[in-house]
Amino acid sequence: MSEQSFNITKIWTALELLKWGTSYFIEKDIESPRLTMELMLCEVLKCSRIQLYVQYEKPLTDKELSDLKLMISKRVQREPLQYIIGKTEFYGLPFFVNASVLIPRPETEILVQKTIHYIQTLSEKSNLSIIDIGTGSGCIAICLAKHLMRNRIVGIDISESALKVARQNATTNEVNVEFIRRDIFKELKVKQPFDIIISNPPYISSEDMQELEPELLNYEPKIALTDSSDGFEFYRRFVKIFKDILSIGGTFFLEFGFGQSDKILELFTCDYECIIHNDLSGIPRIIQGKHKTSIIEK
Ligand code: GLN
Repeated sequence: MSEQSFNITKIWTALELLKWGTSYFIEKDIESPRLTMELMLCEVLKCSRIQLYVQYEKPLTDKELSDLKLMISKRVQREPLQYIIGKTEFYGLPFFVNASVLIPRPETEILVQKTIHYIQTLSEKSNLSIIDIGTGSGCIAICLAKHLMRNRIVGIDISESALKVARQNATTNEVNVEFIRRDIFKELKVKQPFDIIISNPPYISSEDMQELEPELLNYEPKIALTDSSDGFEFYRRFVKIFKDILSIGGTFFLEFGFGQSDKILELFTCDYECIIHNDLSGIPRIIQGKHKTSIIEK
């Protein structure tokens, strides 16, 4: 099957396109070929996947066909599907995404889940102050706001264009989160320390960046992926600033990368009591920590 066989002058039904597109994506070695094609068809036909099944025989208009053709060619150039259709789902909620923000990952859903569960075990579950550092699309902060009641939630990021996406996502999901521009490597003035700090910082090392798939390397924002160093710059900074910005008795939850857990523990255990959580594949992924009791007793 060649690209020429996608003849725009022919009348194509949704089902024919689904079949053609699936084999074209298989040939081009694109992940989840059928699902990709279904989601693209849903986007051009402005329908859900369920509605797509009952429209299989529907012929596409010229405009729909040319929109679809553009999407297919972008995906074959390895642009991530989420950027092409401008959206994704995270923790059951819809999120708008563009090239200014990292596409939220399933591993980060575990980070959100661990944090929500922890907060639900607290005797005081509301009136907490929570900060999401490097909020990107706002996915973490927004999920916390959706699942927890009456807390002050702040999302910070260095990128103004990411904050624009985050604000749009807060509006769509009807939650109240304060999104503020901050560079955590500069002085961070906080009125009061936070009870919960959560972050999925850029943790890919410069060396590992060379090995990335073209989807990540060429399309996702570099500042959201890597610290342009050994992958631990953000955690070193956290060890330092949490002394001031994490309340006594407060807890932090941080995601880290494959193979980083020993070094992460080494960085944090001097000053904090820590636990490591695994992701669904059994890979250590999250560090949960709080000030050592000796500090609290001071
Ligand atoms: N907090 C966002 C996410 O987890 C962005 C993270 C980042 O940019 N490193 O998807």
